[in-house]
Amino acid sequence: MNKITEDKEKLIDLLLLTTNKTTTEISNIVGISRSPINRRLAKLFTKEERIKRRNKMLSISTMGERNPNFGKKQGKKHFNSEGYIMVGKPSWYTGRESSNTVFEHHLVMCEFLGITNIPSECCVHHKDLDKTNNSLDNLTLMTFSEHTALHRCLQKEISL
Ligand SMILES: [Zn+2]
Repeated sequence: MNKITEDKEKLIDLLLLTTNKTTTEISNIVGISRSPINRRLAKLFTKEERIKRRNKMLSISTMGERNPNFGKKQGKKHFNSEGYIMVGKPSWYTGRESSNTVFEHHLVMCEFLGITNIPSECCVHHKDLDKTNNSLDNLTLMTFSEHTALHRCLQKEISL
């Protein structure tokens, strides 16, 4: 039995409850093995609900692909002052209400998960630390506290 942190557990619950992703997809996106995710699934849903969830996953494609704007370029890409790639905010995106632009890496994650906003307690980390590498396999969803701890750790390694 591999133990997971409370933070990871929160994140897994959130993904299980708000997305239609399989446990394999969730394990890739949060960077842990499938068994703790399956345990949460069993805890959060009854057997009947799990079957329903599975059937739903098989019958629908992701929101991103079903969205009429999916894949359409939304204006020009540009870099913000911190070096992140910003793109025009698509109509389905529900975050950043006072802005016309959105982080490209947030869009990539939302489109993959089929959600319309990055949950407020979460952020999207670039695994290779290249802020401009927004391919899905370079991105991982973390809670802010996990993310802060990770970067503190990385900072220490760099300064050694
Ligand atoms: Zn990061």
